[in-house]
Amino acid sequence: MAENLNLFTSTQAVVQEALQKLGYDEAMYELLKEPLRMLEVRIPVRMDDNTVKVFTGYRAQHNDAVGPTKGGVRFHPGVTDEEVKALSMWMTLKCGIVDLPYGGGKGGVTCDPREMSMGELERLSRGYVRAVSQIVGPTKDIPAPDVFTNAQIMAWMMDEYSRIDEFNSPGFITGKPLVLGGSQGRDRATAQGVTICINEAAKKVGIDMTGARVVIQGFGNAGSFLAKFLSDQGAKVIGISDAYGALHDPNGLDIDYLLDRRDSFGTVTTLFENTISNQELLELDCDILVPAAIENQITSDNAHNIKATIVVEAANGPTTSEATKILHDRGILLVPDVLASAGGVTVSYFEWVQNNQGYYWTEEEVSEKLHKKMVDAFENIYNVASTRNINMRLAAYMVGVRRTAEASRFRGWV
Ligand code: NAD
Repeated sequence: MAENLNLFTSTQAVVQEALQKLGYDEAMYELLKEPLRMLEVRIPVRMDDNTVKVFTGYRAQHNDAVGPTKGGVRFHPGVTDEEVKALSMWMTLKCGIVDLPYGGGKGGVTCDPREMSMGELERLSRGYVRAVSQIVGPTKDIPAPDVFTNAQIMAWMMDEYSRIDEFNSPGFITGKPLVLGGSQGRDRATAQGVTICINEAAKKVGIDMTGARVVIQGFGNAGSFLAKFLSDQGAKVIGISDAYGALHDPNGLDIDYLLDRRDSFGTVTTLFENTISNQELLELDCDILVPAAIENQITSDNAHNIKATIVVEAANGPTTSEATKILHDRGILLVPDVLASAGGVTVSYFEWVQNNQGYYWTEEEVSEKLHKKMVDAFENIYNVASTRNINMRLAAYMVGVRRTAEASRFRGWV
């Protein structure tokens, strides 16, 4: 049978297995296998050449039994309804894993921001908010940044929502600039959470992080901060990549130099000649491999060639189910996306709490609270995986889905 590369159906399969292991019946799976709500919208945008282009956007709300839904908005040419649905389910799992009072949500617009001017992007961002405004809000569904969206886009969206609501609503969206109620540490939260997971995983398998050889696929928000944190910690980042290729230096790359040269889309390899491919990068000899770019990167085609001892998924869905099984059977410790990249939503939650209180925390406070959430979540999932002799992905799904399932039952939905 061909490998399942469909993120939505492969996520459904793991959710079903997790619910079965937790003892829930088929009705619970029927409730949780799809978002409760999915809105598809058409967004007309006046382009700089005065023509009008109509974009398609989505907002999925997976389940709000626990609390309002929460999740990023992605601007990417590959955005589809199924991808947004799968991502909203992952947000439910992430919120459950780090114990946040939210369900999962996600949004996206099929577009290529790399080919759009700032003015066009602003009009698209505002148009998206107008199109989904009826179902989002600080107590309903709270968006955030994702691939190719950033603090500026969040600021436009917050401004648009505040106009519609006729009320200054910083808690409508997270990942905002600091002056608009953003949280200290939000921009680096995902990478910080991944770093904490890497450190915890390294302890479990006995890797000394000083001098540990790390390969990171993707040099965007998640990948670049991660490279910086790990190299500051004394690890050797020997490979990084972007959409155009990869850089490899067995003696360690100069991360500060690369950070200085990368553009806002996380592109840097185009400045160099001696590049390798992303596929070669994934198979490099290293201790720790971090896919931090896009989905379906480790499949049954290359899982046998992965040489890392630990794979930590900063990206969403970079490893297929079949590859997960191969890595597990080969004794490679895989820290799944829903756990490893939960730092972003955790600090997004902190941002929302600070907005609701109107009282702001220091970077140290944010960092300390994030550290505790991530370490507790890692330990919990590692223990479930060890006790039940299952891989960490299934363990993470079991932990992640449990709260929403319980809340749905208490509410009398199932
Ligand atoms: P980003 O847009 O800032 O960067 C993406 C990086 O991946 C860029 O370097 C880009 O060049 C590279 N890339 C794109 N296509 C590629 C390809 N085909 N092959 C190799 N590299 C490619 O995005 P980000 O915010 O860093 O997110 C990266 C991943 O992490 C995504 O899967 C995202 O969903 C996940 N994630 C991000 C956050 C966050 O807070 N930023 C939180 C949770 C999960």
